[in-house]
Amino acid sequence: MDDCVFCSIVNKTLDKELLYEDDKVVVFKDILPKAPVHLLIVSKEHILSINHIQDSQEDLAGHMINIARKMALKYGVYETGYRLMFNVGKDGGQVIPHLHLHLLGGKFLEG
Ligand code: 5GP
Ligand code: ZN
Repeated sequence: MDDCVFCSIVNKTLDKELLYEDDKVVVFKDILPKAPVHLLIVSKEHILSINHIQDSQEDLAGHMINIARKMALKYGVYETGYRLMFNVGKDGGQVIPHLHLHLLGGKFLEG
């Protein structure tokens, strides 16, 4: 997708520092962090949201969560706790229509 900001990051056309990369996902810092640690685990494939995952892609969300767990350990929030969040669609507060998992931690998160 030419006009997708996360595809641009995945394809490295934007000058962003990737914290992690494998064949399925990349991880980078959220540009407007809502916690001391706020990372985005982003699918390499342009999938619009959790609603658009096919049955044949059911392993992808599990992989994203597993990478998030490893990132929590690496970035120091594994023991103190953290929140993992998929925003889905309008009422879910999804702004970027490209599948991503938020990892938030480093402070007590309300609500
Ligand atoms: P959503 O609300 O779609 O679940 O979350 C999208 C997230 O992407 C937001 O937290 C927003 O701050 C972040 N974001 C939007 N544009 C960029 C960008 O160009 N670079 C980075 N690193 N994060 C972005
Ligand atoms: Zn995209």
